[in-house]
Amino acid sequence: MSALVIGHKNPDTDSIIAALAAANLYQGRGIAVEPVCQGEPAPETAFVLDRFNLKAPRIVHTVAGEELYLVDYSDLAQAPDDFAQAKLLGIIDHHKLGDVTSDAPVECWIQPVGCSNTIIKICHDYYGVSIPAPLAGAMLCAILSDTVLFKSPTCTEQDKKAAEELAKLAGIDDLNALGFEMFKAKSNLNASPRDLIFRDFKDFEMGGKKIGIGQLELLSLDMITPELKAKLQQELDKVKGEGRNSAILILTDIMKEGSEMLLCSDNAETIYTALKTSAGNTWMPGVLSRKKQVVPPLQAAFK
Ligand code: MG
Ligand code: MG
Ligand code: MG
Repeated sequence: MSALVIGHKNPDTDSIIAALAAANLYQGRGIAVEPVCQGEPAPETAFVLDRFNLKAPRIVHTVAGEELYLVDYSDLAQAPDDFAQAKLLGIIDHHKLGDVTSDAPVECWIQPVGCSNTIIKICHDYYGVSIPAPLAGAMLCAILSDTVLFKSPTCTEQDKKAAEELAKLAGIDDLNALGFEMFKAKSNLNASPRDLIFRDFKDFEMGGKKIGIGQLELLSLDMITPELKAKLQQELDKVKGEGRNSAILILTDIMKEGSEMLLCSDNAETIYTALKTSAGNTWMPGVLSRKKQVVPPLQAAFK
């Protein structure tokens, strides 16, 4: 039986490519695994898979009785709903430590770097497993995506080094051109307001409250018309109504390097204050990272 390598719900590029890359790593070590994912690739990920001629992992929603390696998360809220009936074998991640647990010892590679694929690149070097050129290109894209072209405060020297080495393996000279192409694909707004909110959405437990935070990264916020913004706000109100204390949508302008926020919450003032914004002005200069610049201040405010 093959163990499953599985990224988080509402998969982003890092979580889908990390499943493929970690599968290459484990298979190179003689461990039988299959990469899978918890949903359709988003437009950015579809671009990356297509660009490097890679097949999307199989989609699974239930993992009872399976053995699992998690990539790009360690939170129960982002795991399949029947995670408790599976056996956890390992974690590769770059987020805050989550709340999954295990019955037996697990292999963990958790580092405060900008991207799971950076850790997976380091692991390939550590175990002496080679990376095929197309996979290297996709791993490079995951790093460019998660670090927002190295501009995010989550980006480290290790991410830049891994990206350079992967670019060499993939035969790519112009990282900026590749990154720009990818973010152009990511900026696709041709979807329902609900799909846009859930394209990159995570639920968090904060002081016993369920807080959902989506993020849309765009080349320019000018792409969002007032009509679309109103529809997104309307849909966000519904999302909040589905058992959440708060629903937040972070709208990130990659070029201007900042974010705006749409919000529906029982504790709106707490959130505005924690993020140094107000109902009248939610522009957050320099804010690119949900993980590092949005979640921690909210977690502290809701403690
Ligand atoms: Mg991710
Ligand atoms: Mg990631
Ligand atoms: Mg991200």
